[in-house]
Amino acid sequence: MFTKRTIRDIDVRNKRVLVRVDYNVPLTPDNQVADDTRIMATLPTIRYLIEKEAKIILVTHLGRPKGYDPRLRVDPTAETLSRFLNKPVRKLDRTIGEEVRRFIDIMNPGDVVLLENIRFHEAEKRNDPTFARELASLADIYVNDAFGAAHREHASVAGVARFLPAVAGFLLEREIVHLQKLLEAPDRPFYTVLGGNKISDKLGVIKRFLDRVDCLFLGGGMCFTFLKAAGYNVGRSLVWDDYLDEARAILDEVTNSHSRCKLQLPEDVVMAPEIAPGVETRVGRIEDFYDDWMGLDIGPQTRATYAKMLNEAKTIFWNGPMGVYELPEFAAGTREICRTLAYAKAATIVGGGDSDAALRSFGYSGLMTFVSTGGGASLKFLEGTPLPGVEALLDVDVPVEVA
Ligand code: ADP
Ligand code: MG
Repeated sequence: MFTKRTIRDIDVRNKRVLVRVDYNVPLTPDNQVADDTRIMATLPTIRYLIEKEAKIILVTHLGRPKGYDPRLRVDPTAETLSRFLNKPVRKLDRTIGEEVRRFIDIMNPGDVVLLENIRFHEAEKRNDPTFARELASLADIYVNDAFGAAHREHASVAGVARFLPAVAGFLLEREIVHLQKLLEAPDRPFYTVLGGNKISDKLGVIKRFLDRVDCLFLGGGMCFTFLKAAGYNVGRSLVWDDYLDEARAILDEVTNSHSRCKLQLPEDVVMAPEIAPGVETRVGRIEDFYDDWMGLDIGPQTRATYAKMLNEAKTIFWNGPMGVYELPEFAAGTREICRTLAYAKAATIVGGGDSDAALRSFGYSGLMTFVSTGGGASLKFLEGTPLPGVEALLDVDVPVEVA
């Protein structure tokens, strides 16, 4: 259940509504939006606020600027949004201040403006209360629809909510509802597939899932730390030595089976001497690793085993590619996971920027139950870390008052 107030609970008519969105999108070299998924995902909230005749003030970050950076102005996202809404979206050149305030004063109900990149102000990341108050002073109501930034304790995500009635947008709500269901009431069997390279981001989820999922399937760069911890020679594969002990503890817990969870590690891999297009590759069993080679994808036997077992699932969560899917030589494992999820009868929930990119590049993106717009935020939520952007919102049992 979602325990926060949403935009449904508040009268927005004629009110100035500050909406935090996550338009941190990739740009093309000629400064166009290269992937509009995150912009499209906010349309339900924005359309609702337009219909309800609010004055809509959007704010986002873009990239990691250090102070003002002309290449990271948010104009391209305003253009894309304007096309989706089929109405003008004015991009202001500032984020706070008198000029912005004067513009907002003359807005009509249903108008939409986008403030300049909030991260041009260093106070944003510091969650500076003066900056947060200044931002809040532009509006009567705060809406958070930026799930992808909800794990950041920043001024426009967390701080601002102290000064305004703060509620969730539809995207934020949908994200939490889908992820919460995985934690509280997944249809079983509930299987999870984890890959990708940064083991540090995923260990929290693995540990918390040991008594929640029925089987955990590992792949990607991350699995070699586990294979090494299990005693295999993994050549020059990616291994996070700092995490070997934790990996060993997880393996112990699973084999001593006081946890619910089974753990599946690859039986075979696609190896190569380096990560490069056209490089020589070889399929080998885990026991027969070439000393100087790296494991860069799960092998055909593993693909078949994973696909077959995943077909029994009623719920599947997937985060992280099974190999270096960016190169065709090492894409087969990730492609197989995409295909299996696409055709599965299970509910399929996907998190992670690269997993989403893989779905799209292999042509399976429309076929998932839900694809999260926040890779980092979804992992934080699933590992049980409170998200500052969600915590800051009004609880359902608190009455909403707008000044
Ligand atoms: P997501 O964005 O879906 O959370 P990650 O960012 O954790 O996924 O991981 C994606 C990256 O992991 C990709 O760039 C991919 O090339 C890399 N990767 C996958 N398998 C391997 C491997 N065996 N060795 C090195 N890198 C890998
Ligand atoms: Mg990634």
